[in-house]
Amino acid sequence: MAVPAAAPAPSTTDALLRVEDLVMHFPITQGIIIQRRIGAVRAVDGVSLSIPRGQTLGLVGESGSGKSTIGRCIVRLYRPTSGHMYFENEDLATLESSQLRGVRRRVQMIFQDPYASLNPRFTVGSLIAEPMFIHRTGNRREIRQRTEDLLTKVGLNPRFIDRYPHEFSGGQRQRIAIARAISTEPDFIIADEPVSALDVSIRAQIINLMQRLQEQMGLTYLFISHDLSVVRHVSPRIAVMYLGKIMEISDRNGIYQMPLHPYTVSLLSAIPIPNPRVEKQRKRIILRGDLPSPVNVPSGCRFHTRCPLAQPICSEVEPPLVDKTGQGHYAACHFSDRVEALARTGSA
Ligand code: SF4
Repeated sequence: MAVPAAAPAPSTTDALLRVEDLVMHFPITQGIIIQRRIGAVRAVDGVSLSIPRGQTLGLVGESGSGKSTIGRCIVRLYRPTSGHMYFENEDLATLESSQLRGVRRRVQMIFQDPYASLNPRFTVGSLIAEPMFIHRTGNRREIRQRTEDLLTKVGLNPRFIDRYPHEFSGGQRQRIAIARAISTEPDFIIADEPVSALDVSIRAQIINLMQRLQEQMGLTYLFISHDLSVVRHVSPRIAVMYLGKIMEISDRNGIYQMPLHPYTVSLLSAIPIPNPRVEKQRKRIILRGDLPSPVNVPSGCRFHTRCPLAQPICSEVEPPLVDKTGQGHYAACHFSDRVEALARTGSA
């Protein structure tokens, strides 16, 4: 059966970043001297999204859904297989390495693990100052002064400037990583699971810091997380990914109060409720099986092998991502009208 046309881009006119039909396939090859392509890992498979200037988009999904790959394509750690990534009017997907330098100053990334992302051989001052030296934002004295200011800005003592990363806790290291990311005064930051590796008690502090910096500097964030409960606090708009595609995208209320995709409902049902009585009564939706391999993506709706609402049509026809409410609440499901009952009763 025919596959529907690509989903329309859920875009806004004032977007700082606009991703259109992004595809990132990693080839699988065989042979050492003569390499033969025998397949591909379809990490991202036609994703469109946009982020208005000064706002945050939350990108949520299980490990292996392709959300981090999107972030890495935007900063051009990967060159996408196809599609466009417009930063203002410049298509990041087509820029050559020599043209990327200017963009890299304006687009920065914060990684999940502050233990791995900071080189232990460099002092904190060197780590924060490095992007400023690369982009030649001042002389040595000016950069040192700015490094001290940045330490203060992220809540650390500027006297720490000559210490090494191993002398800091996880939360402090993530503050250092944030100071490094904002050192070139970027417009856009991709935060890839920035609080997942931290103690629960520290997470709120880092999120508050990121929100304060957003207000002060007018930053735009792509906030990547596997945890819908974290994204709720930072993102007014949220996209839910599954196996390389966006399954649902809406404002916060739409996702949490009226989800229109069974996968979103299952993610929401996994969030613990801090009230033992309510927690005991509510219906959990346990998905069957594991996430399918991105090498062999299921036909039709790629969620059909685990979906509690699946019907025969689901394995044959891929549902397009369409605005179900006319108010920017997009979902890719043939049976969105049955999702409310699923959320209420916990069964199909
Ligand atoms: Fe489930 Fe079918 Fe909707 Fe896919 S299209 S999410 S399989 S009901």
